[in-house]
Amino acid sequence: MPTETFEFQVEARQLLQLMIHSVYSNKDVFLRELVSNASDALDKLRLEKLRDDALDAEVSDLHIEIDVDKEARTLTVRDNGIGMSYEEVGKLIGTIANSGTATFLKDLKEAQDEAGAEGLIGQFGVGFYSGFMAADEMTLVTRRAGETQGTRWTSRGEATYTLETVDDAPQGTSVTLHLKPADPENQLHDYTSPWKIREIVKRYSDFITWPIRMVPEADASADGDSTPEPETLNSMKALWARSRSEVSDDEYHELYKHISHDWREPLETIRLQAEGTFEYQSLLFIPSHAPHDLFTREFKRGVQLYVKRVFIMDDCEALLPPYLRFVKGVVDAADLSLNVSREILQQDRHILMMQRRLTKKVLSTVKDFMTKDADRYATFWREFGTVLKEGLVTDSENSEAILAVASFATTHSDDEPTTLAGYVERMKDGQDDIYYLTGDSRQSIENSPHMEAFRDKGIEVLLLTDAVDEVWVDAVGEYEGKKLRSVAKGEIDLDGEKDEKADGERAKQAEDYAGLLGWMGEQLEADIKEVRLSTRLTVSPACVVSDAHDLTPALEQMYRAMGQ
Ligand code: ADP
Ligand code: MG
Repeated sequence: MPTETFEFQVEARQLLQLMIHSVYSNKDVFLRELVSNASDALDKLRLEKLRDDALDAEVSDLHIEIDVDKEARTLTVRDNGIGMSYEEVGKLIGTIANSGTATFLKDLKEAQDEAGAEGLIGQFGVGFYSGFMAADEMTLVTRRAGETQGTRWTSRGEATYTLETVDDAPQGTSVTLHLKPADPENQLHDYTSPWKIREIVKRYSDFITWPIRMVPEADASADGDSTPEPETLNSMKALWARSRSEVSDDEYHELYKHISHDWREPLETIRLQAEGTFEYQSLLFIPSHAPHDLFTREFKRGVQLYVKRVFIMDDCEALLPPYLRFVKGVVDAADLSLNVSREILQQDRHILMMQRRLTKKVLSTVKDFMTKDADRYATFWREFGTVLKEGLVTDSENSEAILAVASFATTHSDDEPTTLAGYVERMKDGQDDIYYLTGDSRQSIENSPHMEAFRDKGIEVLLLTDAVDEVWVDAVGEYEGKKLRSVAKGEIDLDGEKDEKADGERAKQAEDYAGLLGWMGEQLEADIKEVRLSTRLTVSPACVVSDAHDLTPALEQMYRAMGQ
């Protein structure tokens, strides 16, 4: 087959431009991305071979190899993993499948500063293309395990790439970077230096469970025949299987970055080990920022599942409930079959128990933030409060624990949110209920005529602005025996104890105004149910009140976001 030339997708081209004119100052990470892809490819091959013994693939010495050639100024990362077919190379390398990429590129254009841009790049894990931060040309040669023909892909990172078939490609993939010219001013970025490679691998990829080898360049002074021994650069220890005291925070953070594609530090690392009939080890991470696509249907939730150190699947949804979909991490279970499928996991009793335990652990970690580290709690709630509140609707078993760590904007303070416990402490004598009002923004709620009487009487009202708030208040109903009541729904009696004189006055008023109310009711018949005198207004002449059980349009939007 002749060499074919293809055009990159528009998004891919934009991303490549970004890489070439690298806004990201830490170029070293391209090596982490390539090693990470190689490691994934080895995981995939091992699993495929385990599931299909007939697969014609060599699996006795799965590893990653890094070669540098100072003379030619090339750096090659090679693996003998699953490889890619001709079609796959075009599909996987030539396009950007991630639906969030368009948003990403738009945000990136708007990001004012370098730090903002770096953060955004981190969220989207540009992966393979990051090679163009260090190279002006990349070549990839690959052969899918079980197939006989290989494929070569080349590109200079501009508008096009080429594909051709090759006959003698070894199983797996090798990616060769033709490095940009050396910068004599800046030895720090000399990727032909074995010392530099060693350092980068150690820093970013030490926990990779496959050996990462480097063959030192032949030493001219040594006698000709002896080929130098390859050196293994990483320690290959699965972090979740090591004891807490042996692992540094930095190491945990690198694992987090590897599995999450986030280049920022996580907010917290959570370890959990279970022994006994169903053994597992887990390492969960709470990110420090909510990803852009958290509220889209496409968002991939779930953590990685391993069985006795063997990678089984990404995005394993069965391990955590949907409202904890932002949590990343690894669960390594001892007693599962390697052939376990997503469907089986959904129904497995042990997995369900594991999910409950992990859920409680995450919630108790948030509780710890709250009691021990106010800043961390504030960050957590700002980023993930909205999604956590979905749990109030869907997870009745834990709704109390979620309520305990929830906080809400309130009329009590302009900028400090309050917990429900805080609200209850400040409740007025004789006040039985917790009042709230939902709306689009704090300002629109505060301007609502419904608020007038509450402001007048100095009664605190929670200001709820998330779509999910409409739902959970009904689902939960009360907090410590105190009803949650919307100031916009049903009749509200703010004076507590009925006072006969006031009652009499109201009855008289109702009589006086009966004619007017009746007439208004007739005029507005098509739009409203009833016109009545109000005790809740002090300044505005009228307001619309909904029935205690009506729902709002914001809900529909939220259910869609939750994928229901
Ligand atoms: P990601 O790793 O986040 O999927 P990348 O840009 O790093 O994104 O890689 C894109 C895809 O190309 C991978 O998902 C994988 O399918 C394929 N790929 C990249 N490198 C390799 C490799 N060494 N072996 C096999 N497939 C690879
Ligand atoms: Mg990758």
